[in-house]
Amino acid sequence: MGTSTTQVHNWPIIGHESAVDQLARAVQSGRINHAYLFTGPDGVGRRTIARTFARALVCDAELESRPCGTCSACRRVGEGSYPDVTTVSLESQLASSERKDSRNTVISIETIRELRSSVSLRPMESDWRVAIIEDVDRVSRDAYDALLKTLEEPPSYVVLLLIATEFAALPETIRSRCRHISLEPLSRPLVAEELRKRGVADEQADLIARLTRGRIARAIELMADEETLEQRNESVKRAVEMIGDPLVALAEVRRLADVYRRGQRDHVQQEIDLLIGLWRDLLLHVAGRPDDVTNIDVIGDLTSAGPGWQLADIQRALEACYQALHDLSVNVQPRLALNTMVIQWPEPGNRG
Ligand SMILES: [Zn+2]
Repeated sequence: MGTSTTQVHNWPIIGHESAVDQLARAVQSGRINHAYLFTGPDGVGRRTIARTFARALVCDAELESRPCGTCSACRRVGEGSYPDVTTVSLESQLASSERKDSRNTVISIETIRELRSSVSLRPMESDWRVAIIEDVDRVSRDAYDALLKTLEEPPSYVVLLLIATEFAALPETIRSRCRHISLEPLSRPLVAEELRKRGVADEQADLIARLTRGRIARAIELMADEETLEQRNESVKRAVEMIGDPLVALAEVRRLADVYRRGQRDHVQQEIDLLIGLWRDLLLHVAGRPDDVTNIDVIGDLTSAGPGWQLADIQRALEACYQALHDLSVNVQPRLALNTMVIQWPEPGNRG
């Protein structure tokens, strides 16, 4: 299934066939653009593809078998120690910076200037000097201008691989100078299948595929992240109890209001997002769309929490959650905002 007869490569990439095909053909024909722009949601595999492309460009193997994955160049690109491949990201900027302050929430002009001087040097070992710039949507305004200069007149051996979330959010001057590679989430069954191949049990593979919504790189990361999975399970359990029991809900409101007042606003927002996710799942389940349910592992607990869930009640509960998010954003007292939310939820006894 899914194997194309015209497949010309053996890149170690799951899905994203047309993108990989395009890049593999470019490598094999030697017709390389000076700039590529990879866009798509975080965790969809943009970095993996950009890095694999970089490998293919500098690999020592014959053109047809690039990237071989085993030569010294391939290995060192993987380790981040190959001299002709440079990666710039918010993370790398933070790691190399003395000051870990708010200035590090954007890619600074200093970082782009450093990159420009490094790409102005001829490649040391390969035909190309490849610069991977992650988080292009987080480049500061003045750094954009510096980046643009490199895009406008790149040395002949330079290939820039830009990574961003939304194509439309980038300046036209950047977009028009790049070959655009758009990456979409993969289908859920494909992600689940890949996780199973890596030894994840059926149900867990299905759950992770749902939670990550087809973002394969995120799914593979989450698969091994027991701490995050455990935290998620605990939060979900608590949220299900809130939905099933008004007393639990009111106790949780007190706790969350305290957490909010102590400054952990993001945490409270995440809890409300989770509640929205669960109400949404319930809505989809009641509406007869079980395939679209995200938190599939608790849908049984949710439906049995109250017999006869009504669509209108669930919709009202959802609206109340969104209203709470809004109220908190305009500084309504947290306890009031959260209380108002839960009292609009349908009561277990009155359902149906
Ligand atoms: Zn190689």
